[in-house]
This record gives sequence, C-alpha cells and structure tokens, in this order.
Amino acid sequence: MATTDDGAPNVGSPHDALGFDLAALREKYRRERDKRLRSDGENQYLEVAGQYARYAEEDPFAPPGFRRAPLTVETEVAVIGGGFSGLLASARLREAGVRDVRIIEAGADFGGAWYWNRYPGAQCDIDSYCYLPVLEELGYMPSEKYTYAPEIFEHCQRIGRSFNLYEGALFQTRVKELRWNAERKLWHVRTNLDDDIEARFIVTATGSTSRPKLPGIPGIDTFKGRSFHTCRWDYDYTGGDNKGGLAKLADKRVAIIGTGSTAIQCVPYVAADARQLHVFQRTPCSVDVRGNAPTDLAWVAGLEPGWQDERRNNFEDIISGKPFEVDLVDDGWTDIYRNLQTMVSFGEKKDGENLDARLLAEIADFQKMNKIRDRVDQIVRDPRTAEALKPWYRQHCKRPGFNDDYLEVFNRPNVTLVDVSDSRGVEAITETGLVANGIDYPVDCIIFATGFEITTSLRRRIDYDVLGEGGTSIFDHWSAGVRTLHGHSTRGFPNWFAIGISQNGVSANNTFAFDSQARHLAYIISRTIGRGASTVQPTENAEAAWVAEIRSKSSVNREFLDACTPGFHNNEGRFGETVGAHALEIYAPGARAFNAILAEWRANGQLEGLEFG
Ligand code: NDP
Repeated sequence: MATTDDGAPNVGSPHDALGFDLAALREKYRRERDKRLRSDGENQYLEVAGQYARYAEEDPFAPPGFRRAPLTVETEVAVIGGGFSGLLASARLREAGVRDVRIIEAGADFGGAWYWNRYPGAQCDIDSYCYLPVLEELGYMPSEKYTYAPEIFEHCQRIGRSFNLYEGALFQTRVKELRWNAERKLWHVRTNLDDDIEARFIVTATGSTSRPKLPGIPGIDTFKGRSFHTCRWDYDYTGGDNKGGLAKLADKRVAIIGTGSTAIQCVPYVAADARQLHVFQRTPCSVDVRGNAPTDLAWVAGLEPGWQDERRNNFEDIISGKPFEVDLVDDGWTDIYRNLQTMVSFGEKKDGENLDARLLAEIADFQKMNKIRDRVDQIVRDPRTAEALKPWYRQHCKRPGFNDDYLEVFNRPNVTLVDVSDSRGVEAITETGLVANGIDYPVDCIIFATGFEITTSLRRRIDYDVLGEGGTSIFDHWSAGVRTLHGHSTRGFPNWFAIGISQNGVSANNTFAFDSQARHLAYIISRTIGRGASTVQPTENAEAAWVAEIRSKSSVNREFLDACTPGFHNNEGRFGETVGAHALEIYAPGARAFNAILAEWRANGQLEGLEFG
C-alpha cells in the first residue's frame, strides 16, 4: 500500500478524497491531548471521605428519620446493591429456583444509579427499548425513545415488585465488611447499622458509577455557598424537579464544573432558570443530535414476541463493529458504525484492496467528529465560544453525548463558557467563588458534574473489605491486578460473585451485559445448591486461563487509549500505571461474543473450571 510522508496509507489527496487533512488532524488531536495531560493523573481527584464524605453519604431523597434496630439474619444469597444489576441478579436467581434472596441497598429504594441521579434532565442516553431490561416479561413499554430518570426509577421499582424483591430487602443500609467463615462455609456481612447477616452466597452488584468524583481544586473546602454533586441534586435549594422549573435559582449565580454526559443533560435546565450560569469546561463533550420522540404506538402494535432480545442483539452487533444489514435502533450511536461501514466500501474501491481496518476506523471517526464540530458552528453564534466547544479527540475517548438543547444554551446572555482546558484547570475555589485563567467568578452555588470514580483503586471505590479464605483481603489479593473466571468469581473467595465491568463483556448498553451476567450467576449458584455442594470457586487453572485470554484480547486498545485525551477510559492519560487500569480489562470482542462464551459454557453442562467443596 502506498504511504504518505508521515507513514499514513495514501488515501488520495486530502481535499478530493476525504475532505480533510488526516495528518493535520492527528497533530491537532495530539496537541489538544498534551495540553490536558497532568503529572498527577488520577491523584488529581479527592477521595470522597472525611470532610468530603457528605458528597456521597447525604441522601436528599430518603424520607427523614429512618431508624431500625440491628438485625441478626440468615439468608441463602445476599445481593449487595439494588440497581439494575442487583435487581437482575435477584430476579434471575428467583427464576432459577433460589427463593431466599435478600438485597442490601444504601438508598431508600431500588434504582441504584437511577435512585441517586435525579438531576434535572437526567435521561437514558441509550434507546430505552434496549436499555430498560425485562420489558417483554413485565409487559411494559417506555413512553419515549430516550426516557427520563423518573420513568427509569419506576421501572426499577416495577422489577422489585414483580419479582417480590422488596420482601427482605434492607434499605438505607451500607455494607461495611464481608468475611468468609471457613468452618461454617458462609459469609458474615457487617453493616453500618451493626447488622450481622449470614449468607451462603454473596453477589456484589454495586455498579461502576456509585462513587462520586471530586476535583482536588485548591480551596474546595473553603467555599461558603452551597455545593453538591449532580448525583445528590439539592432540589430544596434549586426548586423544581427532573423536568426543570428550578425557580429558586432565579436570583442565584451558579457554577457547573464538568461537561460530560451528565452536564450536557442538566446544563440547559440550570441555564433556563439561574440568574447567571458559568460552565467550567476542561474537555468539550461530543454533542450529537438526540431526536427524542414519544413511543410510536403503531410500531408497538406490530411487535412480535422476542422483539426486545432481537433489538438489543442488533444494537450490540452494530456497536461492536460487526457487519449488519438492518439497523433497528437507528440513532446517533448506530450512526457512528454506519459511517464505518461506508468507509469499508470506500477502502475496497480506492485501491482494489482492503485498507487497514484501524485506518478506516480512524477516518470514519474523523468524519463523524468533523460533523460534530460543524454542528457547534451551526448552533453557537459567538465564534470564540463555538471554537472552545469543539471536541478534538477520537469519539470513543469519552462517552459520546447526544443532546438537542445543550449547545443552544451558549447563545443565552446569562450563560458563560469558561474554558479551563490547560492542565491547571480551575485554579482555585475561594469562600465566594472560583478562580480560572486569573479571573474571579463569584457564585452562590457550585454543582460538581465531575462524574464518578470508575478506574481508581478498588480500595478507594468500595468502602468495605472482602475477606476471603485465611482472612485475605480482596484488595491485597488483587494488588497486582484483578483475577477472575469470566469476571464473576475469584479463587480464594468461595461463593462470592460479582456483576460488573471487570474481565467480562461490557456494553455501552450496560443492562444488556448485566442481564447476561445475572443469568450466568443464577445458573452457577442454583447448580451448586442443586448438587448439594457447600462451596464453589474457580480452579487456579481456569482463572489463570481467563486472565490470560482477557489480557491478550484487551491489548489491542492500548495504542488508541494512549492517543486519547485524558479521561477515565485511560486513567487520565496514564493508562496502565495504576491498579485501577485493570478495572477496564474488558473482553474486547464485545458483550455478544462474551455472552456466547457463557452460553456455550452453560450448554456444555460440565461446570468446567469450577471447584466444589
Ligand atoms: P464524566 O466523567 O463523563 O465527566 C466528568 C466531567 O468533569 C468531565 O467533563 C471532566 O473534564 C470534568 N472535570 C473533572 N475534573 C475537573 C476539573 N478539575 N476542572 C474542570 N472539569 C473537570 O462524568 P459524567 O457524570 O458526565 O458521566 C459519567 C458516566 O455516567 C458516563 O460515562 C455514563 O456512563 C454515565 N451516564 C449515563 C447516562 C445514561 O443515560 N445512561 C447519562 C449520564 C451519565 P475532563 O473530560 O477534562 O476530565
């Protein structure tokens, strides 16, 4: 294949073939990344503990005055976490005949991320008909293509009611320790309410967005106004609800720090009602068309049984880069891959040979991001603000964003975009406001839309220890990296299972991945009980083989991640340097391929790689 001077395959002159200069764009991306690289990487964030604990521990949504006496109870399975993953695990366990299941949940109800994230505009950013699980089984249809948080929260409650999971559930209860009792072959669960719970099996389903992330901006503890994280929205202070109407902000100057998926949803609502809004942006989000619409009842009437599996599988195939003939979801997510398919035919036509797949993906990405940047110019009138709002990185360096109101906000007279893109970011927080680029921004309220700790060390993200055989802590056991069989269990920690994003198939539509994991755990636990075994754990060989498999497949992403603008996907530009990096060891061929491995394993019926006691 012919190459250009910088070694890139020659795909024709920049302007007649592609419409842009590949080498110049690569260089621009590199400069924008370098500007944001910081030597402190993930250490730039404050641990939400001690004086900052309130950002996570306050629950503005729970009825006041909750108290109960410590409990001493036994259960077959304790499920930690009542979000979608815990609900699905419990539901699938019940279906598999395991009746005695008890959910332990920090919130005052089910919902997990959807219990806590009630900020104005909070909305599903994936097609609801794919994202909300068990729709067909429960005979429910979301009201919109991208439904809002209250409806998703209600669906969590619906799952809880339908599978009778409220019975025995312990709300407003935080696990403090899990300790394996080798003699009695069960786990002791200690909680913040001094409960002593004995469980034969544990399923940890605490999600990846449960620990709010706080920026370590100097002076953050000195601010005298109101401050909160988006996942603990203070409606007493702002007024209104998820639909807006934040009337109490009418005389307030507000700062929002962060411009990720959460910020682009809530900024339009704050802008509509606040006297003044400053949006502090370090890295712009890619903001593509949303195109929400009410559910089409004629479409619903024509659906055949099995439609949800078909739709979810189709969506998953497309976003995993598999060839596809029909695009059932047909939205901004799938458009990314439609674009890639077009590039494949471009490659074939151009040289009579297939161009390198990675180059095609890069070109498709550039084309998509050029459209995203053009959209900013079409909507935002002030050219300097528009320039600052343009994202210069490969689209999947950050979660792609979709919103039809966000960019328009920056035409409002009461809204300022404060560009803090160099590595200093926001310089300081004072008693009365923020300092950035040497300018003081006095504010009454600071809202942290700064996301969640997803890849920091486990010890920091999980506020309880898991002590397995011989009293070994899971944090020590995994100090050189996570070790599991299929992401669900670990040798030395019998009867302990996890649902999550480590060493398994992960999807942008995370409930799709969670449901498959839930079925799998339910199968293993019910088979363990069925054969009268008291313990189950992976064999050393099976665990080692899976870790090797995951690492050999994961390595393909390294080059991409190193070139990305800093973010949680690449440990803030220092990918691989921290233990947390292993949290992103995902099965690279995708969730569908991973699910097929699990399905084949179950079909084989031999429970291979597991050791029973
Ligand atoms: P993100 O981690 O995506 O974004 C955090 C934002 O805070 C970034 O813009 C980041 O900038 C910024 N930030 C952090 N520190 C500073 C600082 N010191 N100064 C200025 N800015 C700073 O968090 P989100 O809450 O937006 O999203 C988290 C995840 O939640 C998503 O990836 C998604 O999985 C999920 N989500 C899902 C939704 C759904 O519908 N399913 C909806 C919303 C969120 P920088 O980029 O420079 O680091």
